[in-house]
Order: sequence, then C-alpha cells, then structure tokens
Amino acid sequence: MEIQVDLHTHTVTSGHAYSTLSENALAASRKGIKLLGMTDHGPSMPGAPHLYHFGNLAILPEKLHGVQILPGVEANITNYEGELDMPSLYLERMKLVLVGLHVTCYPGGTSEQNTQAYIQAMKNPFTDMMVHPGRPDFELDLEQIAHMSAQLNVPVEINNSSLAKDKKGVWGNCRLFAHYMAKYKGPVILGSDAHFWDRVGEFSYALELIHEEGILEHQVLNTSADRVLDYLATRRKHRPCTS
Ligand SMILES: [Zn+2]
Ligand SMILES: [Zn+2]
Repeated sequence: MEIQVDLHTHTVTSGHAYSTLSENALAASRKGIKLLGMTDHGPSMPGAPHLYHFGNLAILPEKLHGVQILPGVEANITNYEGELDMPSLYLERMKLVLVGLHVTCYPGGTSEQNTQAYIQAMKNPFTDMMVHPGRPDFELDLEQIAHMSAQLNVPVEINNSSLAKDKKGVWGNCRLFAHYMAKYKGPVILGSDAHFWDRVGEFSYALELIHEEGILEHQVLNTSADRVLDYLATRRKHRPCTS
C-alpha cells in the first residue's frame, strides 16, 4: 500500500513536541510523503498554543521541501455534548480539523456519554476527521463509532503512535476498532501523530493492524493526496457560513 499522506503531526508549538514544521516537512519529503498535516493541539491542552497561533496560519507557505502543507488543529472535545475548544470563526479558517478526546481536556464519563460526545463531534460540520478512538483513556462504543463513520463519511484514525507506545489495552482496543471499520467499510486515515520529526510518515504498526483486520485499500485515504484534498474540499462545501 503506497502512503502519500500524513495528516497528523505536531510541532514545538504543541508544548510537548520537539520539532519545527520545517524539520517535519523535510522528514516527510525524505519518506515520499506529498501532503502533510500540521495539527498542533487545541488551546485547552496544557502547553498548547494560544488561539492567535491558529489565527496566523495563513502566512505559511503552501509547500515546504516539496511537500504540500495543510495547517490545522487537533481540537479537543471538552464536554459530553461534543463541543470543541475552538470557536467556529477559527475552525472555519483551518485547512484541516482533527478532533479527539484527551485526558485533562475532557472530564470522562460513562461509555454512553463518551460515545455520544465523540459522535456529536463527528457530526460537527467543521470536523474533518476523528482521531485515536482506540486509545483506552476513555471507554467508547467502538462499533457505534465505526458505524457512524461509514454513515456520515467522516474518516476515523488508526493512530500509529498509540500502537508504538504499546500501553496496556491499546492493541486490543485498536484491533477491535479496525475490525469494526472493516465490517462497516467507513473511511480510514492512518496518522503518525509524530511529536518528533523522526516519526513523521511512520505507519508500520497501523499498516500491520489494518492488514490483519481486513481493512480494504480503498478505505484508506492516505493512499492518495488528491483523494484527501477532494474530500476536504467537498466537506467544506457543506459547511454553514459563519461570517
Ligand atoms: Zn491526540
Ligand atoms: Zn496528536
């Protein structure tokens, strides 16, 4: 499976990541990545940038080291209603909006509350893709999420960094999620979630998992930069106008 895209990477701006955008882009170009998402953590994460960081992303060049850059955010779900830690006026300016649950940004609840929050965020017209439901930090109904991903055509991530950490429960949870994504045939993204340049474009664990669980190549958006750009353009056509 050829991988042209890494949509989930962090720079020093995230506070607990250690490379610059330029370093990440250079690493991406060396690995044959054509399209790179710069998705620093949303403002409610400790150490994350101020909203002003996200307001100035338009000054960045479209390409760095020959790699097309999609400046965006990994926004945090903040409550059981699935609200995000970024106002719509900022979200609409992002070229890429990833959304996920993170410890310290979300209170945690029952499986039903967490799943509801996740699915409500998936239905947010500013959300482009959902990240790492397989992390065991919060209990989730993974089958329902995979089902909704297919129904709403919102891609959900298999996160390589989670699998690389080999924390208790990660592989089991991610495997179960991959199994349900194979069953419902929703769109999948692979994310490196790199917090240092040497992890950019690294998908070995995620690829192993999706292969073993029978996710089909055409479900995986990372195989084509054009396909990702088409998806993002289409998603933006259905957004409400906030300005
Ligand atoms: Zn995350
Ligand atoms: Zn991340």
